Amino acid sequence: MTLLFSQRDIEPVAGGRPLIDRFGRQINYLRISVTDRCDFRCVYCMSEHMQFLPKSEVLSFEEIDQIALAFISRGTRKIRLTGGEPLVRRDILELVQRLGSYIGSGLDELTLTTNGSQLRRYAGGLADAGVRRINVSLDTLDEARFRDITRRGRIGDVLDGIDAAAEAGLQLKINMVAMRGVNDDEIEPMMAWAHGRGFGFTLIEGMPLGEVGIDRVDSYLPLKELRARLASRYTLEPTDHRTGGPARYDWVKETNGLIGFITPMSHNFCESCNRVRLTATGQLYMCLGQEDMVDLRDVLRADGPSALDAALDRAMQLKPKGHDFVLDRTHAGPALSRHMSVTGG
Ligand code: SAM
Ligand code: SF4
Repeated sequence: MTLLFSQRDIEPVAGGRPLIDRFGRQINYLRISVTDRCDFRCVYCMSEHMQFLPKSEVLSFEEIDQIALAFISRGTRKIRLTGGEPLVRRDILELVQRLGSYIGSGLDELTLTTNGSQLRRYAGGLADAGVRRINVSLDTLDEARFRDITRRGRIGDVLDGIDAAAEAGLQLKINMVAMRGVNDDEIEPMMAWAHGRGFGFTLIEGMPLGEVGIDRVDSYLPLKELRARLASRYTLEPTDHRTGGPARYDWVKETNGLIGFITPMSHNFCESCNRVRLTATGQLYMCLGQEDMVDLRDVLRADGPSALDAALDRAMQLKPKGHDFVLDRTHAGPALSRHMSVTGG
């Protein structure tokens, strides 16, 4: 095996073999897209007239559960549900309850990323099922701008959902995609708002995934530039706080909160990648930015759950070293035709 990255400590796995890729990275984090559908059409994520997959192709809860169990028995400690919008999948709490029952029996954490529109309805149920922290994506606090970015969302629903989640005792982190000329004037106010409410706040660089509704080159805003701007106005103290993801965090002294930076474009974070992503139709992608995948739905439907273990070994052989995202005028189109909502953000 060629170890290109410095070997991290490999966590032992009770009763099973850990999942380790060709480069010595241990995979212990699974992101599951439970649907490619969404009630919003965010301009950087989807096109206005997005074609969604036929529901018959989507994995059943039973199948997701079987795949999740195969991962947990190979050392997966954290599962994040995403999409599309995970909370628009019918009866989603049934799946959350099933997966939540594995917390403490191999699984450390079950969490989700949501646009927040359905949180008022689901926050209590999520907390009851063992979810402790969630990420809510919110790119603006301005009502009209929110409608423009999401093309159809109502910010009131999201803010009300955020209140409901906080009332249910969930810890929240707000994720904001920073876009030049779209919402870059709101970064400081949003950070102050999030920290004022005791939420984490993370900035994300736009990635070239799928044909969408904005000029990605014009709106691309390197977070290095933003961090320098914030550092001229606030005291940013680097921390070693990690949440098992790619974000790097600073403590902001004036607002008393953490700010995270997810910089897939300007800083390649692949060397510490510990995750793989399952699409709503059961394809396991080893990297958000590459095409390598193993079709676990085919494996499951052809040979049953006992065949998953060998499929995970095959998947580990396919995990690429990293993504090759490039975004400039000569590469203005998407790096991949696959939208973020398909692979699961
Ligand atoms: N619907 C949920 C939501 O919006 O939180 C979950 C799925 S969404 C695809 C997950 C995250 O991906 C969101 O924070 C969204 O802002 C982000 N995202 C979507 N497309 C992106 C892109 N092209 N570049 C960077 N982030 C993107
Ligand atoms: Fe939907 Fe999330 Fe994509 Fe927005 S970012 S369109 S809310 S999946």
